[in-house]
Amino acid sequence: MSERAVVPNNLEAFWMPFTANRQFKKNPRMLVGAQDMHYTTADGRQVLDGTAGLWCCNAGHGRPRIVEAIQKQAAELDYAPAFQMGHPKAFELAARLAAKLPSPLDHVFFTNSGSESVDTALKIALAYQRQIGQGTRTRLIGRERGYHGVGFGGISVGGIVANRRTFGTMLTGVDHIRHTHDPERNAFTRGEPEHGAEFADDLISVINLHDPSTIAAVIVEPVAGSTGVLIPPKGYLKRLREICDKHGILLIFDEVITGFGRLGAPFATDYFDVVPDLITTAKGITSGTVPMGAVFCSADIYNAFMTGPENMIELFHGYTYSAHPIACAAALATLDTYEEEGLLTRASELASYWEDAVHSLKDCPHVIDIRNLGLIGAIELEPIEGQPTKRAFSAFLEAYERNLMIRTTGDIIALSPPLIIEKSQIDELFDTLRGVLNSIE
Ligand code: PMP
Repeated sequence: MSERAVVPNNLEAFWMPFTANRQFKKNPRMLVGAQDMHYTTADGRQVLDGTAGLWCCNAGHGRPRIVEAIQKQAAELDYAPAFQMGHPKAFELAARLAAKLPSPLDHVFFTNSGSESVDTALKIALAYQRQIGQGTRTRLIGRERGYHGVGFGGISVGGIVANRRTFGTMLTGVDHIRHTHDPERNAFTRGEPEHGAEFADDLISVINLHDPSTIAAVIVEPVAGSTGVLIPPKGYLKRLREICDKHGILLIFDEVITGFGRLGAPFATDYFDVVPDLITTAKGITSGTVPMGAVFCSADIYNAFMTGPENMIELFHGYTYSAHPIACAAALATLDTYEEEGLLTRASELASYWEDAVHSLKDCPHVIDIRNLGLIGAIELEPIEGQPTKRAFSAFLEAYERNLMIRTTGDIIALSPPLIIEKSQIDELFDTLRGVLNSIE
């Protein structure tokens, strides 16, 4: 930006999501531009993006190829319905995504966000069980500290109290297994923790309680992101898969954060070598440029619906903006960028450098745990007594003053930079963060 953008003088009308509105509006943090690894603020500063926006701008910002594809598509075909109609880029994108997925995941249902992907996957799972004559399977299993967006399905299977308690009745027939975070045994683990695969056996208890014939699906984030980067213990996801297989339960991986290269492989399913029945994605699919999400499912699931008269709609579900042409164009250009620059595996090249850098904060004041995998990391701070979240939020504000964007959840600092980050920028990020931790109360 050549000129300084002016901050609007009325900030009241916009009810900001997941924001302390009154605090923000007294002291707004206004972003007016972004290029590669940096945001530009309204007061002209360059802020290093330590979080890829909200875990989404995996290719960095302002990438010309993606920008041009969006502009061209808007001029050529701004909108096309995906109900009983199609446009070529939707089919091209689905085929390219399917080619990236491990077998048997080879069909794609488009949505506009992670929340929509989650609700779509839950609905497909329930409908599939009916399609195959297993209509008694209506229960859904989530996990404590799971984040699956903000739709009613997502908050029901999600395990975050603050997202649930205000809204009354959730979906019925939902159980939660325990999260896998075990600081007593695993604090300061580098990469995947050694202890805790047995947390998967919680699923057996739920199965024994209700009978397997009542359970449709289990949904987990392979790495829980939004609740503070909880890395699955070695063997945990494989064990969940085995239990699901044994009892005819569908396994859903919510890869809204882990998809598109975050762990150093295209998807977490590749990284952990565990293949679920459905995958939910969003964010990195367009590198955050245009809202889009997708659900990947197996041919078995898809084919179970392709029965009955051919002129009948097979699944009564979809969105006005499913497979939006501009989102499809953005996603295709994003995939081109990822492929040309090797970004879907770049995190694996940087992972050990990143790991050393994250863990270099071990001796900073207040730090009680550090976790990492691929290009994701978390630094957990000891809460100030009686004032939970205050310490990490102070770190967030101080980091922003020092030209670094971090994200906090509770008293945890979460980091997930764009996958284009250079080693020198990793150094800069952690030098700044060290200064921040040394300066806060
Ligand atoms: N699932 C997971 C794992 C997420 O991390 C998120 C967003 N952080 C969502 C779902 C919801 O995505 P959205 O905000 O695009 O609805």
